[in-house]
Amino acid sequence: MKIAIFPGSFDPFTIGHESILRRAIPMFDKIIVMIGFNANKKSFFSLEKRLKWINQVFKHDEKVEVRVHEGLTVDFCKEVGARYILRGLRTSADFEYERAIAQVNKKMHPEIETVFLLTLPEHTPINATIIRDIVFHGGDASMFLPKGLDMSEFKSE
Ligand code: ADP
Repeated sequence: MKIAIFPGSFDPFTIGHESILRRAIPMFDKIIVMIGFNANKKSFFSLEKRLKWINQVFKHDEKVEVRVHEGLTVDFCKEVGARYILRGLRTSADFEYERAIAQVNKKMHPEIETVFLLTLPEHTPINATIIRDIVFHGGDASMFLPKGLDMSEFKSE
């Protein structure tokens, strides 16, 4: 089984994330979205909401599973038997950041490969921080979010 992990904070999960994940589905037998949890860091949207939203978006995709993990991504890969880590690249800044993480992960666990997909041009400016700012100031961020989500809950805690 070719299992990939798609790790992130997904605070919130955007159409950019959705696109990367959907494009990767044909490449793997299973993709586990790993919501990274850090007890010392407060998120904007609760863990429960993020879990629920991602599950809602992929409810018809049998290959996609959503899990929460506190700790190293490579440890989670081992736990679930995944050999691939999926990441999206928007800009050269993403590339430099991702390059370092992927190379360090490879050093820690040589059997794991990080696979990068370039974002679609129209998703390049979409960034969770900007979406949180829009929501914080009462704006409408729905055009940046996957379709079919219950928007009444789309507010911070
Ligand atoms: P992190 O907290 O690790 O930055 P994110 O939740 O922001 O994680 O993103 C998870 C993954 O999705 C990363 O690989 C990131 O590059 C990618 N990503 C984020 N936004 C977009 C986007 N608009 N288009 C494509 N990929 C994206």
